Amino acid sequence: MRQKIVAGNWKMNNDKDETKQLIKEIKKSIKKLSLKSTRVIVAPTFVNLALAVKRAEDTKIEVVAQNMHHAKNGAYTGEISADMLKSIGIKTVILGHSERRSYFGETDAILVEKVNAVLENNLETIFCFGELLEDRKSENHFNVVESQLKNGLFHLESTAWKSIVLAYEPVWAIGTGETASPEQAQEMHAFIRGIIKNKYGKEIADTVSILYGGSVKPSNAEEIFSKPDVDGGLIGGAALNAEDFTAIIKAI
Ligand code: 13P
Repeated sequence: MRQKIVAGNWKMNNDKDETKQLIKEIKKSIKKLSLKSTRVIVAPTFVNLALAVKRAEDTKIEVVAQNMHHAKNGAYTGEISADMLKSIGIKTVILGHSERRSYFGETDAILVEKVNAVLENNLETIFCFGELLEDRKSENHFNVVESQLKNGLFHLESTAWKSIVLAYEPVWAIGTGETASPEQAQEMHAFIRGIIKNKYGKEIADTVSILYGGSVKPSNAEEIFSKPDVDGGLIGGAALNAEDFTAIIKAI
């Protein structure tokens, strides 16, 4: 059975006090939920990660990082290594977010290095990808997604896939209020599962969780999550509010 996951990507939001407060509120509001196998994830900023890990101890909330550098250590001003993340109890790292790709120049080649570093360090990654509006308009979206997946992940051995969660985030739906329709999400997720099946076989394709991201909110989460190949969501704006985030978790 595939894992269901609701992950909140806090991006560059929430200072120290806001981080404490939001974790506290999420803790309280998910306490009564019967989450069974559903994973609840939050990704605060680096400066608040250690604090968040502490505050989320002994709860269902997993704290993950939004990014990571691939080198072990050294002269990389402003960067964070796997060892640093592991030393504060981080087990999962988001990679390849469209904001990293577009604003910080992360190419497929850089992402290969990062994915490799994550796996060599026995960490898990939530690997993000998705097409631009112009790709969708020109009906090139399947090609773009296929090449992002192949270029970023298809060098891996089958065994690596137990440490990979995929997050399909069409860039035109991120922070825009415009969501892919549940049918568009399902169509792309089924396509993604199909290319993984062709390369790695049915078992891996059937077990990898594929999250949808892009303007997921309480009002649309249930319909999106009801689609057979959508295993949860990577949530931006709506993850900054405990009530909305909890409503989205309930929708799964
Ligand atoms: P929004 O939910 O704000 O559209 O952001 C989605 C996202 O980028 C999550 O990583």
